[in-house]
Amino acid sequence: MVLFEDALKIVLSQDFKPGVERVALSEACGRILAGDIFSDMDMPPFDKSAVDGYACQMTTGTSQGITPSIDRAQIIAVPNEKPLLVVETISAGTIPKQAIVPGRCSKIMTGAMVPRGADCVIMVEDTESAGENLVRFTLENTAKNICYQGEDIRKGELVLQKGIRITPAHMAVLASVGATDPLVSTLPRVGIFSTGDELVEPGTIPGIAQIRNSNASQLEAQVRQVPALPTYYGIAPDKSEELYKIIDLALANNDLVILTGGVSMGDFDFVPAVMKDAGVDIFFKRIAIQPGKPTVFGRRDHTFIFGLPGNPVSSFVIFEMLVKPLLHLMMGSSWKPLECMLPLGVDFSRHSSARKSMVPVIMKDGVVFPVEYHGSAHINAYSVANGIMNVPIGTTTLKQGEQVHVRLL
Ligand code: AMP
Ligand code: MG
Repeated sequence: MVLFEDALKIVLSQDFKPGVERVALSEACGRILAGDIFSDMDMPPFDKSAVDGYACQMTTGTSQGITPSIDRAQIIAVPNEKPLLVVETISAGTIPKQAIVPGRCSKIMTGAMVPRGADCVIMVEDTESAGENLVRFTLENTAKNICYQGEDIRKGELVLQKGIRITPAHMAVLASVGATDPLVSTLPRVGIFSTGDELVEPGTIPGIAQIRNSNASQLEAQVRQVPALPTYYGIAPDKSEELYKIIDLALANNDLVILTGGVSMGDFDFVPAVMKDAGVDIFFKRIAIQPGKPTVFGRRDHTFIFGLPGNPVSSFVIFEMLVKPLLHLMMGSSWKPLECMLPLGVDFSRHSSARKSMVPVIMKDGVVFPVEYHGSAHINAYSVANGIMNVPIGTTTLKQGEQVHVRLL
């Protein structure tokens, strides 16, 4: 039996060279970026107005040209004794024609280019009309209200690092630097199947002593969410010859194989022996974790294989804790699970502390509550949980208010 931390180390020390491909920007969200992205331009690309208002010259400080400063909140004095003449209206996307000199201003829209000579933009809300083409400022000072060229991103700057999982916010960065076909890691091909003579597919009404196969649907969804590409191979009976055929076939056609069931100590748990016969090098067969003790991990050539325990909660948790990190490794991803320390809402206790225990919890208003959980067959425990609490080896009780370690789901 290995400690969970050692099992994770073994999984994460595997070598695997991710494939790469280009995808259309519209397909890129959720994928792992496989090449650094540099900006092809300054952002903003020109000094632009942050507000709808009037571009003019401040009355104190530098009045010649624009004073680059990212301190847009700086309060500066503005001309408000005499009205200013409005010389043009600058809409977004147009080039200003008139330079600004003292006594003059240009009406300007948010996102439009600040005209030469202007060094601040007064918000339209802080002005009043003083006759045709004349405007007066009603306040004595203003912020500059200019976004200066290059203040967010400089041309040539690294804007996204390879290895990130592309989020909607990254999509905006990719779009703004014109990365229309980013290089991403190819999706690992994942073969999935269930083992067990008692299993029928979800569309079948189980006979006496049978149950529906829930692991395959759960695993396929977990694999897709990473994202990776699942292929389902069906239900294998608890017979060595048939298990061998399906394991061999799945290993030959995938980057990773995940099967459930048949890995523990029962008379019909043939999976580890059949894996060996099929040429798999097995790295571990038991982990000091609950649920998920009989987890088998191995490799044949360039294909990895996980034999997960048949109980759906065990399969769910071990996928989260070990399989998902492996899939990210296989894509050169820098993804890490979201983890935090939060206070426990009630006292918690367990009988044995020989294994690390992973407990389904609900985090509510910053406090952690274990959900009702009858053990690793209790499928709906995780349908209400939004986190997994980690109870370390050696700990049997945790007091209300104690800080506990939670992995977000
Ligand atoms: P095993 O790991 O094969 O000993 O199975 C442990 C428990 O999980 C047994 O109660 C099985 O009936 C159940 N089980 C195994 N595979 C599945 C599956 N694919 N879907 C739902 N339950 C399963
Ligand atoms: Mg079984």
